[in-house]
Amino acid sequence: MKERDRLMEQGYSLPAEFDRLRAPSSAYAPRQVVTYLCTREHLVSVPFAVEVEVPDVWECRCGQPATRVIADEPNSAAEE
Ligand SMILES: [Zn+2]
Repeated sequence: MKERDRLMEQGYSLPAEFDRLRAPSSAYAPRQVVTYLCTREHLVSVPFAVEVEVPDVWECRCGQPATRVIADEPNSAAEE
């Protein structure tokens, strides 16, 4: 049984967006989260839409420039 059906049996009133939120489709722009490390060792995670060009430097909340941290390629997440 699908989760939606089970929840509705339990009396939950689900918003129309429920299925869309549970299963993001192409209607939603996929996101990537880019991590930056500033000169004061603050980690800053910034969400970007995948179609934007991600800057290599971001201004940290402390005002120092933060350089992009290159993580392992999360290819599997993007393709599934
Ligand atoms: Zn900082």
